[in-house]
Amino acid sequence: MLDNRPPLPPEIARRRTFAIIAHPDAGKTTLTEKFLLFGGAIQMAGQVRAKGEARRTRSDFMKLEQDRGISVSASAMSFDYREFRFNLVDTPGHSDFSEDTYRTLTAVDAAIMVIDGAKGVESQTRKLFEVCRLRDLPILTFCNKMDRESRDTFEIIDEIQENLAIDVAPASWPIGSGREFLGAYDLMNDRLELMDRADRNKVAETVQITGLDDPKLADHIPADLLAKLREEVEMARELLPAFDRAAFLNGSMTPIWFGSAINSFGVKELMEGIGNFGPEPQPQKASERMVGAEETPVTGFVFKVQANMDPKHRDRVAFVRLASGHFERGMKMLHVRSKKPMAVTNPVLFLAADRELTEEAWAGDIIGIPNHGQLRIGDALTEGEALRFTGIPSFAPELLQSVRATDPMKAKHLEKALMQFAEEGAAKVFKPMIGSGFIVGVVGALQFDVLASRIEIEYGIPVRFEGSGFTSARWIAGPQDEMDKLINVNKQHIAVDNDGDMVFLTRLQWDIDRVIRDYPALKLTATKEMM
Ligand code: GDP
Repeated sequence: MLDNRPPLPPEIARRRTFAIIAHPDAGKTTLTEKFLLFGGAIQMAGQVRAKGEARRTRSDFMKLEQDRGISVSASAMSFDYREFRFNLVDTPGHSDFSEDTYRTLTAVDAAIMVIDGAKGVESQTRKLFEVCRLRDLPILTFCNKMDRESRDTFEIIDEIQENLAIDVAPASWPIGSGREFLGAYDLMNDRLELMDRADRNKVAETVQITGLDDPKLADHIPADLLAKLREEVEMARELLPAFDRAAFLNGSMTPIWFGSAINSFGVKELMEGIGNFGPEPQPQKASERMVGAEETPVTGFVFKVQANMDPKHRDRVAFVRLASGHFERGMKMLHVRSKKPMAVTNPVLFLAADRELTEEAWAGDIIGIPNHGQLRIGDALTEGEALRFTGIPSFAPELLQSVRATDPMKAKHLEKALMQFAEEGAAKVFKPMIGSGFIVGVVGALQFDVLASRIEIEYGIPVRFEGSGFTSARWIAGPQDEMDKLINVNKQHIAVDNDGDMVFLTRLQWDIDRVIRDYPALKLTATKEMM
């Protein structure tokens, strides 16, 4: 993966852009917090949540997140650790937000998979893992909550290997579990890492040893646990593959660390793993060619748009993954879709929970560009080349509901709010030819609740979603006269989306088959290209 490519400039080579994938409750937030703590981005653990609380008092935007215990919005955070710059892109945890999650995973070069040592591979872990696999993303595994009673180490590793069909190479080996958990043996560096139970934010004590026969081990580990450790490690070395960087980088092997995020245990070793093993910012696929991170001209693509991040400002932030080059504030970029120049004067980097104006950024970084709706998901920014980055998936809306404002006087405002969410990529919005009102299409049912809550909180419009009578949407394209013919006799099925494109709505597959048969010149598609 890294071979056969020119070396990257040092500023780019030190970047690590990754996401954390986990089943809800496995410890993603806690781990994130510890990353930020060791990355110097926050002074004290607890701040990630504390900041969330402060935000909640300012706006109720996150209320749903609080009520349901799920995370609704993704964000990106940058911090330094040793010589590395980490860009951590947050993924929403709930399965109903997979659309957002899929897109987020197009912006990263690696993922950390967090599993709960007592629960192993859970449903959401598996789903997210499959998305990573589609892109052959390198995955590092963190087996969390070892301070609680957890499963047998071999059993956990077996489960990952079998369930996810990936080789697992232990990077550390746990010593005891639950109340007996002492720490881990660092198999990569022959070190003993001891957990500090007294101070959860302190890093464990490290004891350098010469190997498992080192008599020093007996000073720190009771005889029975030491015997078990020696036996298990010997078995592991026989039965499990040794870490192979090439296999890790092509996604066929994952190194696993055992730790306890809440006790800060194993977190630094994991950070060092990402730093040392990589990957560096990877080439990004455009339909014209591969774009290497080392290329001098700046390029990047929008993978997420978030409206109303700060309700006081009513702005919209486009999250851009820089694919190549050294970006400087004020740069004139080409907005490829509109073919118009765009001066990026106020780019922001997200440091912990705050956003800050940034003077520069490099390939691999995620920058936020506040804008008024020009930037959409999938858009490319370049220094002149007409590139189309590919790989950002678009999803067929599977659930269609009509929406109306409970106060009819607010119908006009509702339209504006819906259009904004459509551009954000949070939903597909259709305006039927017949009748008033709108139909909203989403991938997961919970998205309706999220939308209702956001429309009320951000726009002050209480709304109701109800059945639309439709279950499928197909975009129609083709010669205008054929389109007109179809529209004329199917008015009750026709709607336009927020870009003004024609859509055929139905609840019967039979209807779709009929249109395909009767109008061979027309093309029907279940998704619309984002670009
Ligand atoms: P998320 O839903 O994946 O973001 O999980 P959180 O980070 O919010 O953690 C879920 C729960 O597990 C919280 O109550 C944490 O305090 C707890 N937790 C996280 N890490 C550990 C750990 O290492 N040990 C124990 N015992 N609890 C943990």
